[in-house]
Amino acid sequence: MKTNDDFATKTLVMKFGGTSVGTPEAMAQSIAIVRQSRAEWPRVVAVASALSTVTNLLLDSASKAARGDTQTFYQSENRLRQMHHAIADAVVTDLARRAQVKQEVDHLIADFTGLCHAIAVLGEATPRALDAVAGLGERLSVRLMAAGLESLGTPAQFVEATQLIVTDDCFQNAHPDFTATTQKTRQVLEPILAQGSTPVVTGFIAATPAGVATTLGRGGSDYSAGILGAALPADEVWIWTDVDGVMSADPRLVPDARTIPEITYREIAELAYFGAKVLHPKTIRPVVDAGIGLRICNTFNPAHPGTWLKAEQGIGDKGKGNDDPYPLSPFPSKEGDRGNGHNIVKAVTAIRGQRLVTVEGRGMLGVPGVAARTFGAVASTGTSVPLITQASSEQSICFAVPSDAAEQVLAALEKAFAIELSVADIDRVWATGDVAIITAVGAGMIHTPGVAGRIFSALGQRGVNVIAIAQGSSEVSVSLVVASGDAEAAVMAIHALILNGG
Ligand code: ASP
Ligand code: MG
Repeated sequence: MKTNDDFATKTLVMKFGGTSVGTPEAMAQSIAIVRQSRAEWPRVVAVASALSTVTNLLLDSASKAARGDTQTFYQSENRLRQMHHAIADAVVTDLARRAQVKQEVDHLIADFTGLCHAIAVLGEATPRALDAVAGLGERLSVRLMAAGLESLGTPAQFVEATQLIVTDDCFQNAHPDFTATTQKTRQVLEPILAQGSTPVVTGFIAATPAGVATTLGRGGSDYSAGILGAALPADEVWIWTDVDGVMSADPRLVPDARTIPEITYREIAELAYFGAKVLHPKTIRPVVDAGIGLRICNTFNPAHPGTWLKAEQGIGDKGKGNDDPYPLSPFPSKEGDRGNGHNIVKAVTAIRGQRLVTVEGRGMLGVPGVAARTFGAVASTGTSVPLITQASSEQSICFAVPSDAAEQVLAALEKAFAIELSVADIDRVWATGDVAIITAVGAGMIHTPGVAGRIFSALGQRGVNVIAIAQGSSEVSVSLVVASGDAEAAVMAIHALILNGG
């Protein structure tokens, strides 16, 4: 395995998201970041998303074409040309090169129109056709970035990941074959890197062994960077986005939310939707498990250290500098925890729009199969359950469902337990009003005495009543159910603990 001291082979993969390349200014900034990184990293691979809004525009045009709309894609064609030409004008200073890039852009856009036309004629857009259309956004953006780098004297070459990443034919959500991908990636990228050039690779897209274009699923460019980073292998993978990393709470709700300097993948998994929005969840494991540093950072605030992903508490600190940019937390660190002052509770999230359903009755005690039948009935309605609790008295089972599914779930349960209800083995099946699930995340929390107590007293002080409690099975989170109207106060109270230790 390579070491960081081995300067000549030090490799950095940097992925730029849609907003990081979506305007002339952003593209210029991303190009500047690649150029600066070359001063410290002899080998840099850039991975680019489509310009922001472009993938949606492409897919929307294609599905409209399938429904017989032959207007929209012509409008999209103009919009695509205008967006990409504006960036070419801004970042490709060499006039001959600029004209050439615009021509390549126009060719790809003509392919888009041709595909939409075919889709309109057929009256259907197959997943395979949709992948061919969706991938055009990345194929456009890499040409602009590579030409922009070259214009500034930084050798660069665009590469389509259909040459690198081999997948199955599960179109729109294809699964990579890591062995084949490693071989092809090295074969194509190594010679480019050896020449001192920067490959600028399309995110999101891949191909089957037969060469048919696939995509890795929406938001999949992060995953592309992870796959390429693991294949090369790189020393570090940096995901450039438009926020300062993973935040301790939703900043729209909590104004003093701050960046979490380090987070494990079990923790980020518990952050459900706002964690997943910052980083595609599949990106993490292949990279972090291989000991490759994974960092999320902000294109528009590049000096900020962002968030580092780690394998587990206390290991995998690769890539992190010694200075801790954040003050010591008053939460005690137990021996065996990181012990460097990082918070034990790292983040707090709220999932709103839920109701708690309870199945209760003394006749349930010790009767096997009640839980199975309960969740069987819930599953029959197609509802997924984000939280479950049952007290050891076994006289009730309580779980959350999205509010809009609650009535249907109640009806299914009443039907499933009709007999038990009629003989009062089950007393009732009922649902609360709207509640929110508040989740406090932090791997150290479970093994540190007093944290749960502090959370409950903080909530008590704010007059927040806790309706139910569940511990995440991964043991890195605790979820509390509170009335919908208390959600904000609960998030604030727990976040204050993160900041001040209560
Ligand atoms: N452009 C693709 C999408 O919008 C992939 C990505 O940006 O990560 O889903
Ligand atoms: Mg993304």
